[in-house]
Amino acid sequence: MYAQSYFDYNATTPCREEVVAAMLPYFTNDFGNPSSSHHPYGWLAKSAVEDATESIAGVLGVTTSSLIYTSGSTESINMVLKGVVKKMQARGNHIITTKAEHKAVLDCCAFLESEGCEVTYLDVHSNGLLPLADLQKALRPATILVSVMVANNETGVIQPLDKIARLVHENGSLLFSDTTQALGKIDLTPILTLVDFACFSGHKVYGPKGIGLVYCKENGNYEALPSLLQGGGQQKGQRGGTINTPFIVGLAKAIELAYQNLTSETKRIQALRERLENGLLAIDLAISNSLTEQRLPNTVHISFPYVDGANLLSALSGQLAVSNGSACNSTSTSPSHVLVAMGVPDSLAYASIRLSIGLYTTEEEIENAINIITAVVNKSREANILWERRV
Ligand code: PLP
Repeated sequence: MYAQSYFDYNATTPCREEVVAAMLPYFTNDFGNPSSSHHPYGWLAKSAVEDATESIAGVLGVTTSSLIYTSGSTESINMVLKGVVKKMQARGNHIITTKAEHKAVLDCCAFLESEGCEVTYLDVHSNGLLPLADLQKALRPATILVSVMVANNETGVIQPLDKIARLVHENGSLLFSDTTQALGKIDLTPILTLVDFACFSGHKVYGPKGIGLVYCKENGNYEALPSLLQGGGQQKGQRGGTINTPFIVGLAKAIELAYQNLTSETKRIQALRERLENGLLAIDLAISNSLTEQRLPNTVHISFPYVDGANLLSALSGQLAVSNGSACNSTSTSPSHVLVAMGVPDSLAYASIRLSIGLYTTEEEIENAINIITAVVNKSREANILWERRV
């Protein structure tokens, strides 16, 4: 194991032991191809996939045929955005999204722009919420799709999807919500009734990496998504390629376990988060970037004025596994686009860290993290002449 305490559960989570145990037989003894219809190897694999799909659908409160397996949220996002654009071209080519979405959405939108789509990127309020009046103004007859995430991966801020869905559907547009970070942290069933499409990644919920889902509400839109991967006709032709039986079984187990204790685990995690956040906000001038009423129970995002951001992360890296935002952007030298969208100045955005806690976080780790970060911030400020000269 590593010496650092893990505070990066929004980047990825370890696979639960029960999940690994559930998957193992399908790598070895029960290795059949679910599409092999002439022998028991195939029948067994097919039935394992069917059971897993029924389990996921039951837990999420959706139908089995509304789910398509993918390699993860990035693929699911590409499938939905590109699929809707292709199918809806007779109606229009306008997409609306926000500047605070994950790069998987923003990069896909940029690609679609290069292909001739028009994309409106809406600003968010300083608290991270989408201004509904701006969304209303941006909607037009040619708007085919609106893409707004439920919960932000950096700040944990939760958008009012009910109000957003009303506006989008009144305009006759489709609503996609990136639900990647919300799975296993909040009850998604009510949200899935509001949106037309959603996406999931197994590794965010103590399942394996490389497996995910598209949720496609059964109101005619299921048929509307064209296949991005042809070949073999698997998954009703929606996504060709041999179905990954062990990972699907693992994903189902992970989702089942996450929902089994959702209420009690959310309570425990939220109490730890509050202790962590309050401890860090006790540092002089510290600012939280996630103070909305609705937010993920596990995410803390804090800025420390008068601190050098690069030094902060490198000083912490020997003791704590934290990040300054999305793992996909961690090599970028730009400030977090989410904080920039919220109007946070670049210098402050650099001097910010995200701590995301989870299943294995302990009270002791929380207390240690508060002490370590407080010491590092104080030391960094001691070396900053501007800290002394502040008024
Ligand atoms: N959307 C959000 C909100 C995420 O946090 C992530 C992963 O960090 C993704 C999409 C992409 O997920 P994956 O890398 O599993 O495809």
